[in-house]
Amino acid sequence: MKITRRDLLVWGAGATAGLVFTPVPWKLLSDVSIWTQNWRWIPQPTHRPVDVKGSFCTLCPNGCGMRVRMVAGWPVGVAGVRSHPISRGALCPLGFAAHQLIWHPQRLRTVRHRGSASSWDEAHVAFAKACTEGPVVIVDGYPGHAASSLFEAFAEKQRGSYRVVSGPEAQALTPYETWSGVPAAALGYDLENVRTIVSFGAPLLDGWGTPGQFTRLWAERAVGSADPDLRLIQIEPSLSRTAARAWQRSAIHPGGETALAAGIARVLLEEQLVQARGPMPPLTLAQSAEQSGLSTDAIRDLARLIVGRPPVVAIASDDNPSIAALNVLLGAVGTRGGIVQKSKHAKSHLPAESELDSVRAVLIDSSVPGDFVPRTDAEVFRFAAWDGGSSKADWLLPAPGFLEELTDIPTAPTSAIETYAIASSLVKAPPGVQSAAQFLGRVDPDLTPVDKIIHTRCEALFRARAGTLCAQETTPVAMIPSVEKLEEQLRIGAVWMGEPQHPGGLRCKLSEWPQAPRSECPPCNSLGTWQAPVLPPLASKLYQESSLREGPERRNA
Ligand code: SF4
Repeated sequence: MKITRRDLLVWGAGATAGLVFTPVPWKLLSDVSIWTQNWRWIPQPTHRPVDVKGSFCTLCPNGCGMRVRMVAGWPVGVAGVRSHPISRGALCPLGFAAHQLIWHPQRLRTVRHRGSASSWDEAHVAFAKACTEGPVVIVDGYPGHAASSLFEAFAEKQRGSYRVVSGPEAQALTPYETWSGVPAAALGYDLENVRTIVSFGAPLLDGWGTPGQFTRLWAERAVGSADPDLRLIQIEPSLSRTAARAWQRSAIHPGGETALAAGIARVLLEEQLVQARGPMPPLTLAQSAEQSGLSTDAIRDLARLIVGRPPVVAIASDDNPSIAALNVLLGAVGTRGGIVQKSKHAKSHLPAESELDSVRAVLIDSSVPGDFVPRTDAEVFRFAAWDGGSSKADWLLPAPGFLEELTDIPTAPTSAIETYAIASSLVKAPPGVQSAAQFLGRVDPDLTPVDKIIHTRCEALFRARAGTLCAQETTPVAMIPSVEKLEEQLRIGAVWMGEPQHPGGLRCKLSEWPQAPRSECPPCNSLGTWQAPVLPPLASKLYQESSLREGPERRNA
């Protein structure tokens, strides 16, 4: 039989068409992909028993409790801890995927000086020289932890200054510090006992404070009820997720919060809906209505609604003094269900956002958010575990990352009760990585190292014999036999929780309605615009692609 060229072409075309409709090529593709994953040169996860360690997330000051699943010394998964008294088993998407950050491609591993490769020795020489030539500023993002004490001691010895970058929750408490003299770091919200929350744009259900704290209360006392025990009134220009889920929502003009707070205060005083008799805001109700975008009747209705179910507290999304003054009129300062003093030891600190004049060098700890840019011409030494790519720094210094260093976790900014925990180093830090505390300890060997500061703090807790240790079971500190036992428990995931303070200790006096300008801090740290420096792949899925948390562009769309 003669096979022509035409026959070959027809056969080839038929075979090609037929292959598409048979499972052969797809099976082949599947097998190839399976086989190529099993070559011996391809890295395989080690098959070892899974070890579960108790620890805490250190990626923001909230310090949520974590159970870390470890295999052969590496974390392979994290989950929340239900026994944590504040986070109650919840983690944000970043915390859920934090173990992946260890292998993130943007992980910093070498010292960089103005974009070029450098060394720790050169960085030390440059910083030590700067210390002899003028004042240095140390900037901290988590004030109150053990390294903070070291930073403060260094700044004091060098006649420099210690500054703090605060998150929006901490900034919202600063007006009360001005009026009461009690540091904002010593204050918190008694959310357990509040029955009405008036949120002026605070993203309570989107990611505010410790994630599990408010969401648990919300689930227990509000979800699914037309008249919930915990009322959330959200005042916000856009329909955020918090606004969409709130019991009541008031849509106002962007930037109308100050005027609306003044209008509500005027109605409360004129109609004698509160015990306070002043100070009266200078804005008339008509002006308040015009600036906020609500009608005068709507403002009156809102004021009556707010006081309908006490205790009530207003929560601001920033340091707006009018919203703080509204709380003073509502009697929400120093009372159950309001703003309370949780600590007698917290200190106030200078903010890092102001101009840093006449400074020779600025050292920024890795706890400071990646988008913070110091306002200075001084030489900047910036510690970071990942290269977020956006901050100004002369020296970029690789710091330990997630679970790679021993640190302690002081009370979360919004909590109404003091807590203390220790996050042990569970993972060996890569070579060439150093924390700011270690760096300063090399410049000044007389500084007390972090582990000794932590031990001293454990001794103080043990000697005070107050509070309880929360783990699977709750144990009063008075029943713990030794400081070593207390520290051992803390290092494996237990949390010390203090006694609730008597709320009446906090008093704010206001002789006139506040006109003070707001802080100079640009809204860089607002939760609505907050960006993690880098995201692990799982968090990208949970956080960005799924749009679980909306960005400002989306919000304003
Ligand atoms: S809120 Fe998220 S990032 Fe912050 S400590 Fe908790 S889990 Fe970590």
